Amino acid sequence: MPIPCDRLVAASHVLTQNAARLVVEDGAVAITGGRIAAVGPRLDIAAAYAPKEVHAMGEAILMPGLVNVHAHAAMTLFRGLADDLPVSQWLTQHIWPIEARLDPQAVRLGALMACAEMLSVGVTCFADLYFFAAQTAQAADDLGMRAVVGEGVLDFPTPSAKTPAQALDLSRDLFSRLRGHPRLTAMVAAHSPYAASDETLAACAALARKEGALFSLHAAEGVTENADSEVKTGKRVIPHLHDLGVLGPECLLAHCVHVDEADMDILAATQTKVAHCPRSNAKLASGAAPVPAMLAKGVAVGLGTDGAASNNAMNLFAEMDAACLLHKLTSGDPTAFPAQAALDAATVSGAACLGIPDIGVIEPGYLADLTVLSLTRPNMAPLHDPVSQIAYAASGAETVLTMVAGEVVWQNGRFPGLDYPALRREVRDMARSLAGRPGADRA
Ligand SMILES: [Zn+2]
Repeated sequence: MPIPCDRLVAASHVLTQNAARLVVEDGAVAITGGRIAAVGPRLDIAAAYAPKEVHAMGEAILMPGLVNVHAHAAMTLFRGLADDLPVSQWLTQHIWPIEARLDPQAVRLGALMACAEMLSVGVTCFADLYFFAAQTAQAADDLGMRAVVGEGVLDFPTPSAKTPAQALDLSRDLFSRLRGHPRLTAMVAAHSPYAASDETLAACAALARKEGALFSLHAAEGVTENADSEVKTGKRVIPHLHDLGVLGPECLLAHCVHVDEADMDILAATQTKVAHCPRSNAKLASGAAPVPAMLAKGVAVGLGTDGAASNNAMNLFAEMDAACLLHKLTSGDPTAFPAQAALDAATVSGAACLGIPDIGVIEPGYLADLTVLSLTRPNMAPLHDPVSQIAYAASGAETVLTMVAGEVVWQNGRFPGLDYPALRREVRDMARSLAGRPGADRA
């Protein structure tokens, strides 16, 4: 007697990302109760299971949903607003002034659009650090996405909090609001060691420890950060954070572009996680994070998009490609950071960075966070190696189906339960009004 299950998804290639990095040709996955019940050859799975619904995807790659470990979702409102500028001018004359005008509704709309974008390119989970974080959590929930969300704590006033104490109160509210949620988790999020005092960072770390939660912040992103830190504290950024008690297995540092051997040894010894954002680092000319060296030392590295103001896409296919190219180019070694390393960073390692052990792999017992890429587009033909195709040939536009916890959240351009044309209009009007432009009522 076949075992009843909720869904069966079949595809010409099932890329499991399991310990053996197995790819099953003509494979299928059985899903029940939001989790993977079985994976294997399609004929075996079809004989063993009686699904309520079948998704026969044909010539396609079924793979784990991608994990974006560093985002500011609502910044999609600022996509393309101020490109190709020096960082200080970009921040002080464009981003900070427009961020000061943000309100909860703006963050909600920007975050909804970011979630929509991510689901449409196979991203099923993201970590977000921004203002009015409860709105980002709500947006992710509305679209059925998985997310780890933190309220940005800074020492100067933000649109959502006048003081760091207020931002920490918002963080505590977020922990109570999201406790027990099946897909959403709260984290503590500070901007950076240069925008938060030692006392603030220590308070953040203490709250994260109390909640058993992730603590994420930007670190060693810009060229001058280490020199500035040495003037202020006598230490480089990473040793300073270490001495403050910030680093550890539950700490996720974004960027880590300017880290030396000793810094990387500290990251490895403390099991601190790193969010690598190659496109943001390249666009802002921050530099190339020494990721191959970090991986060699055993540091867990995930991939992040950063915000759409510094990227400008929430697309991990673009990040995988960029990461591979960046590390080959900067090392002069074409074997550096191969396609499999990029795919690992976007799946299993991303899951490890966020402390979610049961995503990023297609194996029985794991959550059914999955995505399917069609192989029928010209850029995907022929197929010699699915991993190579994903890292170097796919754009993300091949995504035809995305599921979170076994629920369809995006399929062939449609989001169940979302009036996407209406969202697009609202986002357009909000972005125009934030940018202070007239004509919000015109198409
Ligand atoms: Zn960032």
